Amino acid sequence: MKNNLFSVKDKIIIVTGAANGIGEFLSMGLLKNGARVYRIDKKFKKSKKHVKLHDKICDVTNLQQVRKTCLEIFDKNKKIDVLINNAGITLPGNPINYSLKSWMETIDVNLTGAFQFSQQVLKYMKKNHSGSIINITSINSEFGFPNNPAYVASKGGLKLLGKSLARDWGIYGIRVNNLGPGYIITDMTRKNYNNKKTRIARQKNTMLNRWGKPHDLLGPCIFLSSDASSYITGQDIYVDGGWSANGLQL
Ligand code: NDP
Repeated sequence: MKNNLFSVKDKIIIVTGAANGIGEFLSMGLLKNGARVYRIDKKFKKSKKHVKLHDKICDVTNLQQVRKTCLEIFDKNKKIDVLINNAGITLPGNPINYSLKSWMETIDVNLTGAFQFSQQVLKYMKKNHSGSIINITSINSEFGFPNNPAYVASKGGLKLLGKSLARDWGIYGIRVNNLGPGYIITDMTRKNYNNKKTRIARQKNTMLNRWGKPHDLLGPCIFLSSDASSYITGQDIYVDGGWSANGLQL
């Protein structure tokens, strides 16, 4: 038995949408815990703190780029241990006149991007009969939030994609789980956070009475990346300060 069940040391971990926000924070945190981390994004602002990370310019919606990126990472390391499907966008709008362009764009990044990245890493994870895929879903995967039809549909879809892949790829030793953040302070939520009324309303609806920080997702990500979760697949973990379990708001 391993001494540290929660170790991610020397694991090859790919994090998509990792130039900013949650993905950037997870990449730094996994690196500090000994993993070799590949950040995927369309563009990067490099600073000193990023020097030990491996960055690959890749749009998750572009199959050719995704294929090439995964092949390069495998060729270099002879394995891929973990994929974190984190890249995501939100294009809010009233469903009455919501544009098909916004719909397609959102589904492409949040759902199709995660699917084709998973398909590409499958090839390499299969070779070692081991792997963990973590989909960053949302509390939107469970509930009908207003005025964001494509985002809610994409996150609901991603949740069930996770279960579907867990079902089909378990025989290859690959685990697929979903991590659903609640309200986390990043560029994506900055506008709501900066609005005092919205900020307080979201906070009050959260059992722990605070917004989340990207740091709050690191522990669950380490858990799902490591051998500590070796018999867990097809599951949802909501990292939302209790938001989705809240009943009556007084
Ligand atoms: P950010 O917008 O801060 O970061 C998302 C990153 O994904 C950005 O760097 C973005 O690049 C990148 N990205 C977008 N499209 C692509 C693409 N086609 N290919 C590669 N990278 C891409 O968001 P968060 O960190 O807040 O969100 C991360 C994940 O967590 C998302 O999936 C989001 O839906 C989910 N989530 C976030 C919550 C929150 O409260 N923040 C709550 C629930 C879920 P660029 O900036 O250039 O577009």
